[in-house]
Amino acid sequence: MTTDTNQDKAIRDDIFEYASYLEFGELHFKVDNTTGLRACIAIHSLKRGPALGGCRFIEYGSTMDAVRDAMRLAKGMSYKAAICDLTLGGGKAVIMKPANMGDREAFFKVFGQFVDSLNGRYITAKDSGSSTADMDAIATETAYVTSTSKMENGLNGDPSPFTSYSVCRGIEAAVQFKLGQTGLNGIHVAIQGVGAVGYGLAKRVHELGATLTVSDINPESTQRCAQEFGAQVVEGDAIYQVDCDVFSPCALGAVLNDDTIPLLKAGIIVGAANNQLARTRHGEILRERGVLYAPDYITNAGGLIHASAQYHKSSEKTAMEQISRLYGVLLGVFDRAEQDGKPTNEVADAMAEEKL
Ligand code: NAD
Repeated sequence: MTTDTNQDKAIRDDIFEYASYLEFGELHFKVDNTTGLRACIAIHSLKRGPALGGCRFIEYGSTMDAVRDAMRLAKGMSYKAAICDLTLGGGKAVIMKPANMGDREAFFKVFGQFVDSLNGRYITAKDSGSSTADMDAIATETAYVTSTSKMENGLNGDPSPFTSYSVCRGIEAAVQFKLGQTGLNGIHVAIQGVGAVGYGLAKRVHELGATLTVSDINPESTQRCAQEFGAQVVEGDAIYQVDCDVFSPCALGAVLNDDTIPLLKAGIIVGAANNQLARTRHGEILRERGVLYAPDYITNAGGLIHASAQYHKSSEKTAMEQISRLYGVLLGVFDRAEQDGKPTNEVADAMAEEKL
């Protein structure tokens, strides 16, 4: 789900107004003076099941910024779980990162007690700033945690290979829909950011016969793709202008904006990065230009499916089968967007809302 940031300030600055606007839900707060923990758990919806969502551990300018972030992200998780037909609700935790961190393990154990106090309505997971080791500390206090280091049924705390697979299935679906081609043989994919997900994606699409162009601020990452997959390497903004079939943003959010969209030569956009559209309206701009955009919260849902599978003690095979089915979910979105003459991001939101 994409949310414009220019919402009415009065709504955003009043917690209850903002909660009402986002159709919440519950907010829970925890303060612990011993460890310095200041945390908020936002539960947007429990209609489809317990709210599984990551625990963000970053510095915030103010408490309101942190709470708004938790609420916005929790709503996004509701939409992601709903459109992917997962039996999960939507929730997110934010912990305000203190300037001086004391005993990190004790800190996350207290957070684990906070999660436990919600009796399973919220299940926590790794997110920006939190680590698998933090999830292990939380797991000493509650069962309502996933992304731990414990390896079970082929699943441990690393979602990246699963996200690479969901993006790859997204590319296959978009190529089928837009170009009428089954498989990726001869398809040119340009990947921005070949870190954990982007590298795994490069490997997958290379194995399916695609040609590659890659960019990354880390030259070692691009060199590895050049050596292993014969990828062309470009620097900086040149990745937007590559004459390719598919542009795949796998580094940063808001990369589809007024400056970059006119540069794009690709007819298809499918990537892992969260919030790729700088504004909701950029979905319509892409549609007008004939560019097929696969909504990010579907194409990167492999990460959530992995977390859910690990939590439910399901198997790697089952998770991969579930991810594979995102192909059909995306074709459904593309079909309806074409029939209704609407941008894919808005159609995806509408389809998720129907399931909520
Ligand atoms: P990562 O940090 O491993 O990789 C990101 C890569 O992007 C790095 O190699 C970095 O050097 C590169 N990068 C940063 N700025 C860049 C720029 N301006 N141009 C080109 N490259 C740049 O992260 P990741 O786990 O691979 O995740 C990639 C994206 O997907 C992130 O936006 C993340 O939020 C999103 N995502 C990841 C997962 C997951 O399972 N890891 C799940 C859902 C969404």
